[in-house]
Amino acid sequence: MVDQILIAGAGPAGLSLAAYLTNANIPVCIFEAEASLPKNLRASTFHPPTLDFLEPFGASKVLIDEGLIAPTFQYRDRENGCLAEFDFDLISAETNHPFHVQCEQFKLNLHLLDWLSKQGVDDIYFNHKIKGAKQTGDEVAVIADTPNGEQSYNGNLLIGADGANSAVRQLSGINFEGFTWEDRFLVVSTAFDYKKYIQDLSFVNYYADPEQWFFLLKVPGLWRVMFPVQRDEKDADIFNAESIEKRMQWVQASSDTFEVAHKTLYNVHQRVATDYRKGRIFLIGDAAHINNPLGGMGMNGGIHDALNLAEKITDFWHNRKNASVLDLYEKQRRPIALEYVNKQSIKNKQNLEAKTPEAQGQFREFLAELMEDKQRAREYMMRVSMISSLREASEIN
Ligand SMILES: Cc1cc2nc3c(=O)[nH]c(=O)nc-3n(C[C@H](O)[C@H](O)[C@H](O)COP(=O)(O)OP(=O)(O)OC[C@H]3O[C@@H](n4cnc5c(N)ncnc54)[C@H](O)[C@@H]3O)c2cc1C
Repeated sequence: MVDQILIAGAGPAGLSLAAYLTNANIPVCIFEAEASLPKNLRASTFHPPTLDFLEPFGASKVLIDEGLIAPTFQYRDRENGCLAEFDFDLISAETNHPFHVQCEQFKLNLHLLDWLSKQGVDDIYFNHKIKGAKQTGDEVAVIADTPNGEQSYNGNLLIGADGANSAVRQLSGINFEGFTWEDRFLVVSTAFDYKKYIQDLSFVNYYADPEQWFFLLKVPGLWRVMFPVQRDEKDADIFNAESIEKRMQWVQASSDTFEVAHKTLYNVHQRVATDYRKGRIFLIGDAAHINNPLGGMGMNGGIHDALNLAEKITDFWHNRKNASVLDLYEKQRRPIALEYVNKQSIKNKQNLEAKTPEAQGQFREFLAELMEDKQRAREYMMRVSMISSLREASEIN
């Protein structure tokens, strides 16, 4: 057997894990189903502790250089404008990066891949789709579908970082419990300059609205607008230029037609794997948990999984701790996905879509109280920037 850690999936979770292990002199072998790293838009908000974690691999600097620093985020409505603005100054003592960075997630992936290759990691196999996994004695073996037919590889552990439809999870017989939302999310990107019309906007803005909530997030050169769409609306009707224009005009009326750079429709789920570990197989990132994107916790949480698991593998690999340290990964990270990320992202959605005047009033009152009370606002920011959940997890033993 080759002494190495097998990683299925070269997304932010798999590549972050590979970077940490490489820094700790642990050999990795990465399998990616696609022919190259996908350049899709997906996540764009990096939270402070994620930037702290990515610093040793030069990634925070790249994200800052190639993205936008967002020192505040806002809740708004169309009628009253800003309901509450949260400033990361409040938690500046807790992180080296007291801000969000708004940057496309593929830029992180490209950087980590480049960083790994500069460290001499050459076992990165594209066009290798994992389709089989078997544990025997001291090793785990995988079978990958490749352009040259099936290939088999083995190593000490296999990490499933292969996304929401994880083959590793399914091959391990692990269930993905939870539900799929009735509504789907439409993301439209445009170069339209919202700042010209709404001057006090942050780069991250969540709009509460009983009729149609939305978010407005900035990435370099583009604003991303996300809307909920009804399950029974036909894709062709949703993507129809006229209907997109109508939605965009609803957010901000303009005499010009909106130029659309990208439009994507997502099914949205709240699911957590019943197990994060089966023997020598572990799950991280979307393979282990998925949630709606309100609050930007999916990719961030996946990178936090990677850090947590990598620390434990490192301690075990270098004989600093015995094998039981690996059990802690599931114990620490699964409750966070269930109790924190799942609940907070559901709450975020419910707050924005609240229909009754009573529920809308409660949310606005909650925000007004936070704006009045610095200590409560600070605790809230610690929670939504995921620092509290990392600290809570580290206390579980
Ligand atoms: C609209 C939208 C906005 C979002 N915004 C945010 C945000 O602002 N902040 C945030 O934290 N999260 C956000 N997310 C979620 C975020 O995109 C995901 O949580 C993140 O991509 C998960 O990373 P991952 O590495 O676990 O999986 P992925 O990024 O899905 O990567 C998995 C990789 O595995 C590969 N793969 C799949 N199957 C196999 C196989 N059998 N063998 C080998 N390789 C395989 C895939 O090709 C892929 O490259 C958003 C998601 C959406 C849809």
